[in-house]
Amino acid sequence: MINKVQRLIKKSTNVVIFTGAGMSRESGIRTFRGEEGLWKQYKPEQLSSITGLQAQPELVWDWYKKRLITGEGVIPHRGYDALTHLQKLKGSLPVITQNVDGLHRLSGQTDVLELHGSMRTASCLVKCGFSTELTTDLLGSMPPHCPWCGNILRPDIVLFGEPLPAEVISRSYELADNCDLMLVIGTSVQVWPAAGIPFAALDNGATVIEINPAGTELPCNENVISVRRKAGEILPLLVGLKE
Ligand code: NAD
Ligand code: ZN
Repeated sequence: MINKVQRLIKKSTNVVIFTGAGMSRESGIRTFRGEEGLWKQYKPEQLSSITGLQAQPELVWDWYKKRLITGEGVIPHRGYDALTHLQKLKGSLPVITQNVDGLHRLSGQTDVLELHGSMRTASCLVKCGFSTELTTDLLGSMPPHCPWCGNILRPDIVLFGEPLPAEVISRSYELADNCDLMLVIGTSVQVWPAAGIPFAALDNGATVIEINPAGTELPCNENVISVRRKAGEILPLLVGLKE
């Protein structure tokens, strides 16, 4: 099975990566769903919506600060290095991610499409034009405020009820419609519209390699190869990344 997947990755000319929260699990960032999922403790709308942010800015910012902000201490694992390596080998290897932790870029990957935005920056909630990198300094006094107009800041991620960035979603579907292989890594394929992307790849006749220790919403058929392993363990092996 591993040999077959290695051969497929090698011979495919139009490969696209699609990742979710499980890709970052081995870097210490928890997933939302599953056994130890973050959403066991909170309602998503409480933490991930404009109204939630307006109602309880401190709670929301504190949650992001503790759980997701990755500036310090969170380091991309070997699975990330493997994707960076594969990107160099292939020349072109677009990475579509649902993650907001910025680890793909941090590990040196280019052509990263962040469907749900990024936690690495924040901007003014009332859109006065202020935008900044998120640093521990900025989060020293909670919730962080806009130095220009005094309103609270928001993380630059797509919150509940907000649309996904239109250019990112349209390019992602274009890539899915034209790829011959998609690696679907660490996603439950449950969050729409992002979840439609691997289905679009399957519709176009592409093969999907799913890397996830657990089952997902993807169908069981001859075009889906399920590798039930952790991303950090298996990706270096699949792309021939040396120790
Ligand atoms: P999800 O929480 O729905 O699913 C995570 C999947 O990862 C599960 O299927 C799980 O079995 C799998 N997984 C766990 N450990 C793994 C490992 N070591 N290797 C490979 N797979 C592993 O995540 P989702 O599908 O990305 O959807 C949740 C939404 O939450 C996304 O939209 C994302 O933006 C957001 N989110 C992002 C982060 C992050 O940026 N790191 C973290 C949590 C949630
Ligand atoms: Zn402002």
